[in-house]
Amino acid sequence: MIEFKNVTKRYGDKLAVDNVSFRINEGEIFVLIGPSGSGKTTTLKMINRLIPLSEGYIYFKEEPISNYEVYEMRRDMGYVLQQIALFPHMTISENIAQVPQMENWSDEDINKRIDELLEMVGLDPETYKDRKPSELSGGQQQRIGVLRALAADPPVILMDEPFSALDPITRENFQNDLLELQNKINKTIVFVTHDIAEAMKLADRLCLFNEGQVEQIGLPEEFIESPASSFVEQFIGKVNQDLNLTAGELVAELSVAETESEYPVVKEQADITEIFRLLSNNEAVLVETESGPKKLSRSQVFGYLADKRGVTS
Ligand code: ADP
Ligand code: MG
Repeated sequence: MIEFKNVTKRYGDKLAVDNVSFRINEGEIFVLIGPSGSGKTTTLKMINRLIPLSEGYIYFKEEPISNYEVYEMRRDMGYVLQQIALFPHMTISENIAQVPQMENWSDEDINKRIDELLEMVGLDPETYKDRKPSELSGGQQQRIGVLRALAADPPVILMDEPFSALDPITRENFQNDLLELQNKINKTIVFVTHDIAEAMKLADRLCLFNEGQVEQIGLPEEFIESPASSFVEQFIGKVNQDLNLTAGELVAELSVAETESEYPVVKEQADITEIFRLLSNNEAVLVETESGPKKLSRSQVFGYLADKRGVTS
């Protein structure tokens, strides 16, 4: 769907992105992760031509992006920013309607689309359509930011740390919403974050940046089972060596609910590697304990490990 071939971006003699190649598949959530200043935003903005590249090629649907008009890129690629970027003087409807209007949709189609989108994220259209952004909570405004990117039904969504300004609980809700939404809409999503827990939770595949270069690309479990470098190990937190945790110890650390659902079951003695392997394909595992099965969710475990080592940027 999107391919980078030896892409470099220079600012003066500063290499912001350094000879990067990768391919993003249709329908996947591809997460660009890395420390602050490692080149994630620059990479994302080169995709929709907000930033011109210095060397190399980027292809969209097998064609160089230079073959597309800039307005076509904007139409085909919804864009969600970290900071809420709604127009304050416009209503929620007007904010959502921007791209469809540019595309000359009929008023009737636009109205239908607005209702459909608001309903999709559980906001009652009659209540919210005519409000101004300031009459919504921060979380609701960011939700509208996501809807605006989806409005004209683009095949690609680019998201640059869209949830990082939100408090941890709202943030977790958004992550769950995004995964749920993706089940319905099945877009190609390029998602930038510096938070390893968020990346592990959302990614179909991860691409880890370090100083403008790609350190490793692959499935979340590949980062854990076979980190490509010591930088990768460090970034994901050297879970295997540093934290000799068993499932039982995690249960003792984290508050867990008993549940009857169909998650894979592990023994209390199971080590962290086994738990990771299971969590890369399942939302949770059940740990057998004397007092019955206890659930450990993926976000709990990764959130815990990230907190533990202060891995936030
Ligand atoms: P990230 O999103 O991973 O935090 P960026 O892509 O924003 O990183 O930046 C990568 C590098 O390029 C950083 O060192 C940053 O300072 C530099 N950079 C980004 N934008 C500019 C610019 N407009 N002019 C000069 N340097 C820039
Ligand atoms: Mg950035």
